[in-house]
Amino acid sequence: MTTSANLTCCITFDFDAMSSWLGSARSQNPSMISRGQFGAVAVERILRLLDKYQVKATFPTPGHTAFAYPDIVRRIAAAGHEIAHHGWVHENPAKFTPHAERDILLRGIDALETVTGERPLGYRSPAWDLSPASIALLAEMDFIYDTSCMGHDCYPYYLREGDLASFDEAYQFGTTIDLVEIPVSWGLDDFPLSEYVPGYMQGHCTPSQIEELWRGDFDYARQHAPGGVFTLTLHPQSIGRGNRMLMLERLLDYFASHEDVRFTTMLDYARQWRDANPLAEWIASNPDLCGNRALGQNNGDGAN
Ligand SMILES: [Zn+2]
Repeated sequence: MTTSANLTCCITFDFDAMSSWLGSARSQNPSMISRGQFGAVAVERILRLLDKYQVKATFPTPGHTAFAYPDIVRRIAAAGHEIAHHGWVHENPAKFTPHAERDILLRGIDALETVTGERPLGYRSPAWDLSPASIALLAEMDFIYDTSCMGHDCYPYYLREGDLASFDEAYQFGTTIDLVEIPVSWGLDDFPLSEYVPGYMQGHCTPSQIEELWRGDFDYARQHAPGGVFTLTLHPQSIGRGNRMLMLERLLDYFASHEDVRFTTMLDYARQWRDANPLAEWIASNPDLCGNRALGQNNGDGAN
């Protein structure tokens, strides 16, 4: 439908390092922070594994991480992987004013550009939190895609800005814009499944449990979503532990054993999908995902 492969695998590694403990957990506890530091150790073994299977992956990276580990981030980019925007210090955008959120986005862009020499074109929000202003800000800054939302499982879609969500009135769809969403899922994220965070997250699923979950979603996508995308969200500080690395290798081996499956960066996939699905045509083909306003059709109150 949209690409030559039946299914595209986008394997992503959120290189949070210390920033998630500083920005999300608001902790300066050296022990907690060292959990992020392990991510820098793990990236090297992840790069070797990706090279073995000739997988090009995407590394959403906070600006804070890029400045803490510039050589590692440059090595990731030099190996042909994509560096995407992942906030400045893994802060939740919803906790800031639109003005402050814009500053955070610009700070992250500047840090990645300084370290890699390239402006990021993909964005993943820290912990997948977005503010009501986020989507418009991403469009304003010419991002090609976002990967923080869950409105589909196997196919990308175009995001809307200006939705009005009220507890008392019908949902108001905003305008569908030229910003591709490559959807994610908590069930396809290693962190909540694996990691123990005292008082917050139980984690501790076994690798075999996680492997079963992810293989099942991969099999479904391959069998039922031609041209679709299967996305894993991994974290070096979590997936990089020994037994999980063995599980990841088994999975890559399984994914790669299918001739109709390919691996690529999110940016590469987003560009191909956008070229194959121009915005106006996609809106016309997907009215239920856009709300009738986007089509200019009367939705009951005369507005369009
Ligand atoms: Zn993160």
